[in-house]
Amino acid sequence: MSHEAQRTAVSHPPSGEKARRNPRMCECANPDCVEMIELSVAEYESIRSSPTRFPVKPGHVYLEFERLVEENGHYIVVEVFGEAAKVVTELDPRSQRGRVTQPVGESPSG
Ligand SMILES: [Zn+2]
Repeated sequence: MSHEAQRTAVSHPPSGEKARRNPRMCECANPDCVEMIELSVAEYESIRSSPTRFPVKPGHVYLEFERLVEENGHYIVVEVFGEAAKVVTELDPRSQRGRVTQPVGESPSG
Protein backbone atom coordinates (compact mmCIF):
# COMPACT_ATOMS: atom_id res chain seq x y z
CA MET A 1 0.00 0.00 0.00
CA SER A 2 1.45 3.32 -0.99
CA HIS A 3 0.16 6.71 -0.33
CA GLU A 4 0.51 9.35 -2.97
CA ALA A 5 0.45 12.78 -1.46
CA GLN A 6 -2.07 14.82 -3.25
CA ARG A 7 -0.69 18.09 -4.48
CA THR A 8 -2.90 21.03 -3.94
CA ALA A 9 -3.34 22.99 -7.09
CA VAL A 10 -1.37 26.18 -7.17
CA SER A 11 -3.75 29.07 -7.26
CA HIS A 12 -3.60 30.94 -10.51
CA PRO A 13 -1.95 34.30 -10.52
CA PRO A 14 -4.21 37.15 -11.58
CA SER A 15 -4.34 36.86 -15.33
CA GLY A 16 -5.11 39.38 -18.00
CA GLU A 17 -2.78 41.98 -16.69
CA LYS A 18 -2.87 43.97 -19.86
CA ALA A 19 -1.64 47.16 -18.27
CA ARG A 20 1.77 45.66 -17.74
CA ARG A 21 4.33 48.36 -17.21
CA ASN A 22 7.51 48.49 -19.23
CA PRO A 23 10.60 50.42 -18.29
CA ARG A 24 11.23 53.41 -20.48
CA MET A 25 13.68 56.25 -20.52
CA CYS A 26 12.58 59.37 -18.73
CA GLU A 27 11.74 61.95 -21.38
CA CYS A 28 12.42 65.04 -19.34
CA ALA A 29 14.22 68.09 -20.69
CA ASN A 30 17.56 67.06 -19.26
CA PRO A 31 19.53 65.47 -22.13
CA ASP A 32 21.83 63.77 -19.64
CA CYS A 33 18.99 62.10 -17.77
CA VAL A 34 19.23 58.32 -17.83
CA GLU A 35 16.52 57.59 -15.31
CA MET A 36 13.88 54.99 -16.05
CA ILE A 37 10.15 55.21 -15.57
CA GLU A 38 7.57 52.45 -15.83
CA LEU A 39 4.43 52.79 -17.81
CA SER A 40 2.36 50.58 -20.05
CA VAL A 41 2.37 50.82 -23.82
CA ALA A 42 -1.20 52.09 -23.75
CA GLU A 43 -0.30 54.78 -21.29
CA TYR A 44 2.70 55.83 -23.33
CA GLU A 45 0.70 55.95 -26.55
CA SER A 46 -1.98 57.98 -24.84
CA ILE A 47 0.53 60.54 -23.62
CA ARG A 48 2.43 60.72 -26.90
CA SER A 49 -0.73 61.14 -28.92
CA SER A 50 -0.10 64.76 -28.05
CA PRO A 51 3.31 65.89 -29.38
CA THR A 52 3.83 68.30 -26.51
CA ARG A 53 3.29 65.76 -23.72
CA PHE A 54 5.97 63.57 -22.22
CA PRO A 55 6.20 61.05 -19.42
CA VAL A 56 8.93 61.94 -16.93
CA LYS A 57 10.17 60.78 -13.60
CA PRO A 58 8.72 62.51 -10.55
CA GLY A 59 10.85 65.55 -9.80
CA HIS A 60 11.98 65.99 -13.42
CA VAL A 61 9.55 68.78 -14.19
CA TYR A 62 10.94 72.03 -15.57
CA LEU A 63 8.27 74.55 -14.79
CA GLU A 64 9.95 77.26 -16.84
CA PHE A 65 8.69 75.70 -20.03
CA GLU A 66 6.42 72.83 -19.12
CA ARG A 67 3.54 72.21 -16.79
CA LEU A 68 2.35 69.24 -14.86
CA VAL A 69 -0.60 67.51 -16.50
CA GLU A 70 -0.94 64.30 -14.57
CA GLU A 71 0.79 62.66 -11.68
CA ASN A 72 0.54 59.15 -10.34
CA GLY A 73 2.74 56.89 -8.30
CA HIS A 74 4.91 55.87 -11.26
CA TYR A 75 5.51 58.89 -13.43
CA ILE A 76 4.47 62.44 -14.24
CA VAL A 77 3.00 63.70 -17.48
CA VAL A 78 4.22 67.12 -18.48
CA GLU A 79 3.12 69.40 -21.29
CA VAL A 80 5.61 71.82 -22.74
CA PHE A 81 4.48 75.26 -23.86
CA GLY A 82 5.87 78.32 -25.61
CA GLU A 83 8.96 77.97 -27.76
CA ALA A 84 9.67 74.48 -26.45
CA ALA A 85 6.25 73.31 -27.60
CA LYS A 86 6.90 74.64 -31.09
CA VAL A 87 10.19 72.80 -31.25
CA VAL A 88 8.87 69.45 -30.07
CA THR A 89 5.85 69.73 -32.35
CA GLU A 90 8.08 70.28 -35.36
CA LEU A 91 10.31 67.43 -34.33
CA ASP A 92 7.44 65.06 -33.78
CA PRO A 93 7.04 62.74 -36.78
CA ARG A 94 3.35 62.30 -36.05
CA SER A 95 2.42 65.92 -36.53
CA GLN A 96 2.00 66.36 -40.26
CA ARG A 97 0.71 69.63 -41.54
CA GLY A 98 -2.48 69.49 -43.56
CA ARG A 99 -3.20 65.90 -42.65
CA VAL A 100 -5.43 64.64 -39.91
CA THR A 101 -5.19 60.99 -40.82
CA GLN A 102 -3.93 58.92 -37.95
CA PRO A 103 -1.69 55.98 -38.80
CA VAL A 104 -3.30 52.76 -37.73
CA GLY A 105 -0.10 51.50 -36.18
CA GLU A 106 0.67 48.01 -35.20
CA SER A 107 -2.00 46.00 -33.53
CA PRO A 108 -1.16 44.81 -30.06
CA SER A 109 -0.40 41.13 -29.94
CA GLY A 110 -0.50 39.03 -26.88
ZN1 LIG B 1 14.53 62.80 -16.30
